[in-house]
Amino acid sequence: MENIYEDRVIPVTSITSGIGQTISDGVYYLPTQIVNVIYITDPKTNQWVLIDAGMPRSSQKIIDEAEQRFGDDNPPKAILLTHGHFDHVGSITDLVNYWNVPVYAHSLEMPYLTGKQSYPKGDPTVDGGLISEVSPLFPNHSIDLEQHVKPLPENNSVPFLPDWTWIHTPGHTKGHISLFREKDKTLVAGDAFVTVKQESLYKVMTQKLEISGPPKYFTTDWDAAWRSVKKLNKLKPSVAITGHGLPMSGDTLTNELDKLSTDFDSIAIPEHGRFVH
Ligand SMILES: [Zn+2]
Ligand SMILES: [Zn+2]
Repeated sequence: MENIYEDRVIPVTSITSGIGQTISDGVYYLPTQIVNVIYITDPKTNQWVLIDAGMPRSSQKIIDEAEQRFGDDNPPKAILLTHGHFDHVGSITDLVNYWNVPVYAHSLEMPYLTGKQSYPKGDPTVDGGLISEVSPLFPNHSIDLEQHVKPLPENNSVPFLPDWTWIHTPGHTKGHISLFREKDKTLVAGDAFVTVKQESLYKVMTQKLEISGPPKYFTTDWDAAWRSVKKLNKLKPSVAITGHGLPMSGDTLTNELDKLSTDFDSIAIPEHGRFVH
């Protein structure tokens, strides 16, 4: 497969890039520049799955971390994608070529992962800061994972991770998903909401912890995005790792997610933008 991001250096990063952390049993995240990848292990089988594929040109870091944690001969059983934006699939081609494992995503996300449809360009007219302003420069073209990508099982089970379910959380993209483990209420939210003001270059660099809706410049359906946040709030997660930002847990998460779920219109939805009606 061709890596369409081969020569794309995206010059934004954060102080926590490369510094990973375990957030709950078998759940470890690693920030690549400005986006998190998550390594989830099944405690019974010790098999593991990678969630999302980071920024372009991060594959070596993601692989090094994996081999350090799981050994050289223990590749993931699969890679799951919360959605197909460039910062979540940036290194997927190299990872699939290296590990030769299947990729799973929601069926509605397939056109964006098989070269059939591009996402709308980033919207610079939403408020929020410098990252919004430069977002039209971000890649928006579909990658083509060919036969390597498959739709997630329709019964919401997560391949190789029996304790987990996937939850359709559209709005940021049509086929966006989050992952949830009921027994300890661990949430992998993707970009359904994030814990940093992703539109602001300064806040992204410093990773200031602050609940926020999905990144504004790429979100196309705000009504659906609000419903998705309400759906996740109802699960009452005890710890959450989002696509961008630091993990959030305990009362802070409960209170902040509640506030976002109630005041989504004032906190998350931009005052103007191509997808705001
Ligand atoms: Zn996104
Ligand atoms: Zn993202």
